[in-house]
Amino acid sequence: MGNVIVIGSYVVDLMSRAPRLPKPGETVLGGPFQIGPGGKGGNQATAAARSGSNVTFVTKIGRDLFGQDAVEHFKKEQFNTHFVQIADEEATGAALIAVDINGENQIVIAPGACGTMTKQNVLEADAAIKEGDIVVLQLEISMGAVEAAVERAVLHNVPVLLNPAPYQAFPREILKHVTYATPNETEASNLTGVEVKNEASAQKAADILHQLGVKTVMITLGHKGVFLSERAFSGRVLPGFNVEAVDTTGAGDAFNGGFAHAITSGQSLEEAVRFGQAAAALSVTKNGTADSMPYAGEIMAFLS
Ligand code: ADP
Repeated sequence: MGNVIVIGSYVVDLMSRAPRLPKPGETVLGGPFQIGPGGKGGNQATAAARSGSNVTFVTKIGRDLFGQDAVEHFKKEQFNTHFVQIADEEATGAALIAVDINGENQIVIAPGACGTMTKQNVLEADAAIKEGDIVVLQLEISMGAVEAAVERAVLHNVPVLLNPAPYQAFPREILKHVTYATPNETEASNLTGVEVKNEASAQKAADILHQLGVKTVMITLGHKGVFLSERAFSGRVLPGFNVEAVDTTGAGDAFNGGFAHAITSGQSLEEAVRFGQAAAALSVTKNGTADSMPYAGEIMAFLS
C-alpha cells in the first residue's frame, strides 16, 4: 500500500438545487438541502484512501460544528490526521453551491481555516512527507504552503503530483519539481497560454510544461479521457469510460486520488491513468464530491 500525502483544502459543501440560479439581489426557492465533505484536498484524499492507499491529510479546519463533521469524515476514511490543524480564530471552509435544473452551478467558496494554512503548517508535517510515496497538491491553499510542500518533497526525493486547480498564477520554478501535472483543458490553457481544444493543441501545451520541467503531463479532457505526454511530441489520448453521468463535480479529484493510489502501488503509468479514469467515471455516476468517490472493490469490478 502506498503512502499518499495530500496537502490541501477541506471545505464543507452546502448545496441546493433550484429551478434556476438567482439573479443579483434575487432569492430563489430551492429544493432539498444537501451537505457533505468537499474541497479539492479532501476529495482527492478520500479518493486515494477509498482506492486503498494510506493517506495522510495535511489541512486546517475550524473549531466549530463543520470542523467536528470534518474530523468524523477523516476518521471514517481512515486518514492519518496527525497533521490536521485546528484553528481557533477561523471557521471551517465552506462552499456555497447552487445548481439549476440543467446542472449549471454557481459556487462561492469561503476558504476559512484552510485558506490560512501556512508554510509553517506544512513544515510541521515534514516527517510524514519524508515517509511519503507521493505528495499530492492543488492550488486551493496559499502559494506559501504549496511552495513549502514542493520544497520538502524535493528534499526527501518524493514525487510531486500537482493538480493546478483552481488555476492561480504561481512561480514557474515550481514546475521544475513536478513529476505529474494534471490540469484540465482550461487550466492547461491558463498555464501555458495555448488554447487546448484538440490533440495538437494539447501536445503544444504539454510541450511547454515539459520545457518548464514537468516530467509527465496528464491533461484531463472530461468525458473524452486524458491526454498523456511523457516527453515532447509523445502524447496520446487515453479514452475515458462511457457512463451515465449525473454529477461531474469532483471528477478531476477522483482521477487525481485514484491515479496517486495506483502509481504508488506499482502500476505502470498507463495502468494508473486507467485506474484514475475508472475512479472518475464511477464518481460521476453519483451525486456529491467526496461522498461520490468509489471504493477499491467497485473500481476493480468496473475494470474487470
Ligand atoms: P475536472 O473535474 O478537473 O474539470 P475533467 O472534467 O477533465 O476534470 O474530468 C477528469 C476525468 O474524469 C476525465 O479525464 C475522465 O476520465 C473523467 N470524466 C469526467 N467526466 C466524465 C464523464 N462524463 N464520463 C466519464 N468520465 C468522465
